[in-house]
Amino acid sequence: MKVDLRRVQEGTHPLVLDGRDAAFALDEDTERTLTGFRFEGEISSEGMDRRVCGSLTGTLETVCDRCLTRIDREVQADLDVRVVVEKSARDTESPEGVIQVASDTTVLDLTSPFRAAVLLEVPIKNLCRDDCRGICPRCGVNRNKEPCDCDPTPIDPRWDALRSAFETPSSETPEE
Ligand SMILES: [Zn+2]
Ligand SMILES: [Zn+2]
Repeated sequence: MKVDLRRVQEGTHPLVLDGRDAAFALDEDTERTLTGFRFEGEISSEGMDRRVCGSLTGTLETVCDRCLTRIDREVQADLDVRVVVEKSARDTESPEGVIQVASDTTVLDLTSPFRAAVLLEVPIKNLCRDDCRGICPRCGVNRNKEPCDCDPTPIDPRWDALRSAFETPSSETPEE
């Protein structure tokens, strides 16, 4: 996801970045990764100002919030980033949509803006399907794949004492 700025000449030029075999994590604490991506757009250069815009597509690998099955989802994100040369700045990113680079920066790293653009497209809830039945909190099976005989009511210890007072002990069930 790096662009050699020394090769960018004045004017607007097509920019294609091929990340077919690449992958990057979207954030540190979740298992969300973008793989097999491709950026198609253009880079323009006017004096010291540069701008990258275009479309990023790829496969977002994530896991279902309920059953933890891996989900692959195609994503598409639009990108419009201004690259501003700051005399004193190191390569930092701020504010939104702007990358500040030092005047002697030769390589532009688009990882951060790519990550930010894709995160905007990621739904807050990730479910493998709308009616995902999740993992049984009692026996741990994936209830989409195999049914279990556990009591489907949520576990709430406050009810346990009350319930056992009314339940018939299983030893008294007549056998056939
Ligand atoms: Zn699921
Ligand atoms: Zn169960």
